[in-house]
Amino acid sequence: MKNLKFYIDKALKQHFALGALNFSNMESSQGIMQACKNLKSPAIISVSEGALEYMGAEFTMAIAYACKKICPYLFLHLDHGKSYTVCKQAIDLGFDSVMIDGSSLSFKDNIALTKKVACYAHKKGVLVEGELGQIKGIEDNVVAAENHFTDPTKAKEFVEKTGVDMLAVAIGTSHGAYKYQGKQTLRFDILKEIEKQLPDFPLVLHGASSVAKTLVEQINNYGGKLENAIGIPTKLLVKAVKEHNVIKINSDTDLRLAMTGKVREVLTTKPSEFDPRKFLGSGRNEITKLVENKIKKIFLSENKA
Ligand SMILES: [Zn+2]
Repeated sequence: MKNLKFYIDKALKQHFALGALNFSNMESSQGIMQACKNLKSPAIISVSEGALEYMGAEFTMAIAYACKKICPYLFLHLDHGKSYTVCKQAIDLGFDSVMIDGSSLSFKDNIALTKKVACYAHKKGVLVEGELGQIKGIEDNVVAAENHFTDPTKAKEFVEKTGVDMLAVAIGTSHGAYKYQGKQTLRFDILKEIEKQLPDFPLVLHGASSVAKTLVEQINNYGGKLENAIGIPTKLLVKAVKEHNVIKINSDTDLRLAMTGKVREVLTTKPSEFDPRKFLGSGRNEITKLVENKIKKIFLSENKA
């Protein structure tokens, strides 16, 4: 069966990544799904705790069902589950994978919580992502003031003791639209050390939106106000995919920027428009274009379904 595990193994072997793309309404999910269908690319559709709350469990599952029916190589994932309770909820609902984010806890407590989630998830055939080290920035209810890079010497112990199926590492990416104040870099030295400890183990990068200048400009050109937004350079992400074991790359910010920019443009240039399909539909198409671009240039997952 071509389940999520199948595609993770394939991505490891063939050096591509599954985009983990966040949605929070019908249009964003359709935008993602259309891109993956057009390019025959497997991917993960993610919901944060906040998005799950916003849409409600029933709508979340109905949207995911529709996406997967049209495009069977899409997998539903809980992004940054903060508690056993919310992870259990997602597992019981039928998610393909959950992330338990115990990164703000002590090493010992992170292991205990992650292990508890993994034990329950694995009984139901659901995969689990853990996080070691902390990723800076703000995204929904995830707030961290500083980057605490993953300690490579602890990565192996963490994976062995928790039984996670994939590991989110902190090597210099950050959440949100304001990623860097100064130099834009990723700590490939840390990544290499982690891979020495954990050969052929699936790794995950969070906060990996590129925050393309054109997306920010479009928002600002039509009345928005985003200052100095800057993201991770594409070539660093490609390097992480091609030369390392990064098989899942999360992107939420870029999709939000794309939709917001287009909606602003339509509402500004067509002030008499009041049919939501006209501006939300344009936003949806913009997400498709953006995701197609990422599939081709960053995830390298075209025709891997
Ligand atoms: Zn994240």
